[in-house]
Amino acid sequence: MKWSQALIPTLKDAPSEAEIASHKLMLRAGYIKKVASGIYTLMPLGLKVLLKVVNIIRAEMNRAGAEELLMPILSPAELWLETGRWELYGKEMMRVHDRQERKFALGPTHEEVITDLARSELKSYRDLPKNFYQIQIKFRDEIRPRFGLMRAREFMMKDAYSFDRDEAAAEITYGKMFEAYTNIFTRCGLKFRAVEAESGNIGGSFSHEFMVLAETGEETIIHCEKCGSAANKERAGGNCSFEGNAAEPERPLEKVSTPGMKTIEAVTGFMKVKAQELVKTLIYIIDGAPVAVLVKGDDEVNEHRLKRNLNASEVFLADAKQVEKYTGAPVGFAGPVGLKDVAIVADSSLKKMKNFAAGANEKDAHYKNVNLGRDFKADKFADLRFVSEGDLCSCGCKLSSQKGIEVGHTFKLGTKYSSKMKAEFLDEAGKLQPAIMGCYGIGVTRILAAAVEQGNDENGIIWPAEIAPYQAVITAINYADAAVKETADRLYGALLAEGVEVLLDDRDMSAGFKFKDAELIGIPFRVTVGSRGLKENSLEINIRKTKENIKVPVDGAVAKLKELLNVK
Ligand code: ATP
Ligand code: MG
Repeated sequence: MKWSQALIPTLKDAPSEAEIASHKLMLRAGYIKKVASGIYTLMPLGLKVLLKVVNIIRAEMNRAGAEELLMPILSPAELWLETGRWELYGKEMMRVHDRQERKFALGPTHEEVITDLARSELKSYRDLPKNFYQIQIKFRDEIRPRFGLMRAREFMMKDAYSFDRDEAAAEITYGKMFEAYTNIFTRCGLKFRAVEAESGNIGGSFSHEFMVLAETGEETIIHCEKCGSAANKERAGGNCSFEGNAAEPERPLEKVSTPGMKTIEAVTGFMKVKAQELVKTLIYIIDGAPVAVLVKGDDEVNEHRLKRNLNASEVFLADAKQVEKYTGAPVGFAGPVGLKDVAIVADSSLKKMKNFAAGANEKDAHYKNVNLGRDFKADKFADLRFVSEGDLCSCGCKLSSQKGIEVGHTFKLGTKYSSKMKAEFLDEAGKLQPAIMGCYGIGVTRILAAAVEQGNDENGIIWPAEIAPYQAVITAINYADAAVKETADRLYGALLAEGVEVLLDDRDMSAGFKFKDAELIGIPFRVTVGSRGLKENSLEINIRKTKENIKVPVDGAVAKLKELLNVK
């Protein structure tokens, strides 16, 4: 492609609405164009990158034995009513109706549609295993679309759904998908980490998120350098490194007046105690019964852990009315001392605490010097807090934390959809069984944003060579000069003949302007053709990532570039 003929509308400055690097750069470098909030046109350069990512995904999914199909974007409400998700999905699901007032969803995901297909086509254990995937536009009316392609309302996803005859077979399929995902993100040239995620009611390690590592990521990853374990913040376990003050002698319980002080900051400031010398009491309704959950003042309750450790199915924070009913005081003054008919569950770190502050279950009052055992009893101790950096891994090492962008999710679904929708097959004994399902998503367009978030500098984008829109750009300094034009054209032809994807900057612009544009759009290699170099029969190859310049003889340029491209 010749630059003069391409649509690459670069901008000097980023539009003001863009907050993070990838969003700014993709707008500035002409990869995307906003149409409406969370809705973008992929410009020619953006589409080139997308297609490269799609090719990698398709190749690896096929290699893993999955079969591609394409489901419709419109899916009828009847299917969603069968699983109850027509009501449950909420406002994120975009809904439309046809001229006969029949209702449809613009597919936010496709479990219902694929399970409908499976129940009609997969009738016998001989038809299994099956794994179907598609690469398609999805719609989600996100409450806060932001960061360009990162969280859009219309975006491209690769979604796959597997059907197996039993748990063992489903686990083999899960393993294959995990491996395919690892290959996909590696081949995209991304630094990433697979982390354990919540798996709902399915036990075991069968839910992973694939995170591209980037400081601006919205997700927190907790991992251990030593044993390699990694989980997202909700899932992460570990031991509190808090030392506590268990050796202190118990001091007498004392009630303190704390008028209007409802927050941890207000209470600790007034009582002159540190946050870790106070116990927070949160009233939850767990499977219908009130439970007081106690954590250290500087910790937060991890509701996923709470649910898991109590083996509960429903966990809700009590509302103000319920708090008043169970504690006898307005929100902000709940505490464990004197609570009646409310179970008490305490985070394990409380075992190390003596003489702490807590609410007094009375308006405008707190206690000082509360002690476990003497002033109240806990019905259960469990790990309930969000683990953070510096806590201890089960292997004994200190945990680290990192930020990431979720680009993929693998999940064992079990029979959640196959039971409800009767996607059943006849097993070898002639008995009907629901298929064991798995689902596997990749945010295809989000990968573009994540790659830019990971690869950029003050001058622009730095694409991994594997997914760059062009592998090389030839910058002809003064294309009007006959010798420059002749060499640039010859090099362009030779590279094309070798299958190198190359852009020739033939525009009538200054060298500085062209260099800036080439850096902004992030092409991995730039070959500069200028009359000064030609006098010595040489060209210069510039490596975008390292900023290194390599001088090569004119005739050696193609071979050198090919060598660089192979090495990446
Ligand atoms: P998130 O927590 O980021 O909203 P999700 O859990 O809703 O993601 P899934 O339903 O598992 O996502 O979808 C599969 C993949 O699709 C995600 O891993 C993510 O990469 C991508 N994705 C989800 N929502 C969006 C969006 N609004 N814009 C772009 N990509 C998205
Ligand atoms: Mg979401």
